[in-house]
Amino acid sequence: MKFDPASNIQDLLQFGEYGDVNPSVCDSATFTFMQAKTMLETFKGEAEGCFLYSRHWNPSNKYLADAIAAMEGSEAAWVTASGMGAITSAILQICNAGDHIVSSMTTYGGTYAFLSNYIKKFDISVTFVNITDLAQVKAAIRPNTKIIYTETMTNPMLEISDIPALAAMAHEHGLKLVVDNTFTPMMVSPSKFGADVVVYSLTKFVNGKNDCVAGAICGSLEFINALIDVNNGTAMLLGPVLDPLRSSSILKNMHTLHIRMQQHSKNALYLSEKLSEMGLRVIYPGLKDHKGHELLKSMYNPAFGFGGMLAIDVKIAEKASELMEKMEKEGVGYLAVSLGYFKTLFSNSGKSTSSEVPDDIQKEMGLSDGLIRFSVGLDHDIERTFERIKISLKEVGL
Ligand code: PLP
Repeated sequence: MKFDPASNIQDLLQFGEYGDVNPSVCDSATFTFMQAKTMLETFKGEAEGCFLYSRHWNPSNKYLADAIAAMEGSEAAWVTASGMGAITSAILQICNAGDHIVSSMTTYGGTYAFLSNYIKKFDISVTFVNITDLAQVKAAIRPNTKIIYTETMTNPMLEISDIPALAAMAHEHGLKLVVDNTFTPMMVSPSKFGADVVVYSLTKFVNGKNDCVAGAICGSLEFINALIDVNNGTAMLLGPVLDPLRSSSILKNMHTLHIRMQQHSKNALYLSEKLSEMGLRVIYPGLKDHKGHELLKSMYNPAFGFGGMLAIDVKIAEKASELMEKMEKEGVGYLAVSLGYFKTLFSNSGKSTSSEVPDDIQKEMGLSDGLIRFSVGLDHDIERTFERIKISLKEVGL
């Protein structure tokens, strides 16, 4: 049967102890036991269904984690206080001092900073590669490599990673493929194509409301249990756990994700086509001239389209600023970082979410000073939005 992330979420029987259709929020840090013996067994991971302490598990977090695992098609998941909490915990769980990582050069700026600067503290080295060049990825693998790291659709260049090929390469060399699927929830299910660990910033499309930051780590039950192991688990010991009140609100938003993804994709495709007809340089994986178009089609779930992210390149940073200010005034959306919101958000990537990436690396990855990344919203009338963008472009002389 075809893998259907939306129906998998819909079919979860998650209700509260009073039959409350939204499971009750478990507003407790700790849990009581009637017998001291059960507490001991829970500590050892031998008591099924018992909760101990909320940094480890909380029922509300478990509901959300189960929904994420159902969406992703992974055996298990664990929810974190941010996307960075998910990324850093997953990486530090797999690597030890002296290990090596092969990573896509194009990743979210925070991830790039973690891999290029912070991780040196642990004596872990990283080689950055063009992830679309499989020969380059292979050549970068060393005897001490532990991870191939990438994003399904990279931030901000919107390149497409060949997940099945990268998974095959990783497994051939005994490595783990770790994939950030933040831009493409439901559209692509990396676990189904062999990714060992899939991380999400739930802050973005999955929650969709921009009212909190949150993240998730998906993987095998063995990996998730190792992450929360009381003696050696990175998540248990560094403690980036999500607040259960937030889990509860994100869980409710997941039930509309499939509808939102369809609308984000429909609107982004419309704007991409119209803007490229005007002669602008548009990067959108749904356009036939995008290098990763066919590859994405070989992995995506067509019901959810090509995603809500697009970029235009106006070449000069000052021009990008002028245009973004004008678009905000015209009511196109907000000049803001982040993505997956119901309103359109736009920012100049090189000067914002990728500003951690040094200028020479920005050049190498093809990130121009004038690249404006759009997270296209759920606009009811996208033709009206396009008219507003057209007015803004004209007013700044583009
Ligand atoms: N991964 C991607 C692709 C992102 O764009 C971001 C943030 O912009 C993150 C991870 C980090 O997520 P968070 O801000 O929830 O920590």
